[in-house]
Amino acid sequence: MIIDPTNPNQNKTQTGTPQVDLSKTTELACECENDMFMPVMKFRKTSAITSPTGKAGIIPFECYVCTACGSVPDELDIPKIL
Ligand SMILES: [Zn+2]
Repeated sequence: MIIDPTNPNQNKTQTGTPQVDLSKTTELACECENDMFMPVMKFRKTSAITSPTGKAGIIPFECYVCTACGSVPDELDIPKIL
Protein backbone atom coordinates (compact mmCIF):
# COMPACT_ATOMS: atom_id res chain seq x y z
CA MET A 1 0.00 0.00 0.00
CA ILE A 2 1.24 3.46 -0.89
CA ILE A 3 0.72 6.05 1.83
CA ASP A 4 -0.27 9.46 0.50
CA PRO A 5 0.57 11.98 3.25
CA THR A 6 -1.81 14.53 1.73
CA ASN A 7 -4.77 12.16 2.14
CA PRO A 8 -5.92 12.20 5.78
CA ASN A 9 -8.19 9.21 5.20
CA GLN A 10 -5.13 7.00 4.85
CA ASN A 11 -3.92 8.11 8.25
CA LYS A 12 -6.21 5.64 9.97
CA THR A 13 -5.81 2.17 11.35
CA GLN A 14 -7.76 -0.75 9.97
CA THR A 15 -10.33 -0.39 12.73
CA GLY A 16 -11.18 3.08 11.45
CA THR A 17 -9.89 4.83 14.55
CA PRO A 18 -8.20 8.08 13.56
CA GLN A 19 -4.61 8.25 14.60
CA VAL A 20 -4.03 10.79 17.31
CA ASP A 21 -1.11 13.16 17.26
CA LEU A 22 0.58 12.01 20.45
CA SER A 23 2.31 15.36 20.84
CA LYS A 24 -1.13 16.85 21.49
CA THR A 25 -2.02 14.36 24.19
CA THR A 26 -1.11 14.30 27.84
CA GLU A 27 0.56 11.35 29.45
CA LEU A 28 -1.38 9.42 32.03
CA ALA A 29 0.96 8.40 34.80
CA CYS A 30 0.56 6.87 38.21
CA GLU A 31 1.12 8.78 41.44
CA CYS A 32 4.49 7.00 41.59
CA GLU A 33 5.31 8.54 38.16
CA ASN A 34 5.37 5.18 36.41
CA ASP A 35 3.47 5.38 33.12
CA MET A 36 3.01 1.70 32.33
CA PHE A 37 -0.09 -0.26 33.25
CA MET A 38 -1.34 -3.79 32.83
CA PRO A 39 -4.91 -5.05 32.51
CA VAL A 40 -6.47 -6.82 35.47
CA MET A 41 -9.99 -7.91 36.28
CA LYS A 42 -12.08 -6.35 39.00
CA PHE A 43 -15.46 -7.61 40.12
CA ARG A 44 -18.52 -5.85 41.43
CA LYS A 45 -21.22 -7.65 43.33
CA THR A 46 -24.78 -6.69 42.57
CA SER A 47 -27.80 -7.27 44.73
CA ALA A 48 -31.05 -8.45 43.24
CA ILE A 49 -32.42 -4.92 43.64
CA THR A 50 -29.71 -3.10 41.67
CA SER A 51 -28.99 -5.79 39.08
CA PRO A 52 -30.42 -5.21 35.57
CA THR A 53 -31.34 -8.91 35.44
CA GLY A 54 -33.16 -8.83 38.77
CA LYS A 55 -30.79 -11.43 40.19
CA ALA A 56 -27.83 -11.00 42.51
CA GLY A 57 -24.59 -11.59 40.72
CA ILE A 58 -21.02 -10.61 40.02
CA ILE A 59 -20.05 -8.27 37.19
CA PRO A 60 -16.46 -8.40 35.92
CA PHE A 61 -14.66 -5.21 34.88
CA GLU A 62 -11.31 -4.84 33.24
CA CYS A 63 -9.17 -2.10 34.68
CA TYR A 64 -5.50 -1.21 34.69
CA VAL A 65 -2.98 -1.31 37.48
CA CYS A 66 0.37 0.41 37.67
CA THR A 67 3.14 -2.06 36.86
CA ALA A 68 5.39 -0.45 39.46
CA CYS A 69 3.24 -0.02 42.58
CA GLY A 70 0.10 -1.96 41.66
CA SER A 71 -2.34 0.85 42.38
CA VAL A 72 -5.17 1.90 40.06
CA PRO A 73 -5.11 5.60 39.12
CA ASP A 74 -8.45 7.33 39.67
CA GLU A 75 -8.79 7.97 35.95
CA LEU A 76 -8.53 4.23 35.19
CA ASP A 77 -10.81 3.02 37.95
CA ILE A 78 -13.74 1.54 36.06
CA PRO A 79 -16.57 2.39 38.47
CA LYS A 80 -15.67 6.06 38.05
CA ILE A 81 -15.66 5.79 34.26
CA LEU A 82 -19.13 4.26 34.16
ZN1 LIG B 1 2.37 3.38 40.54
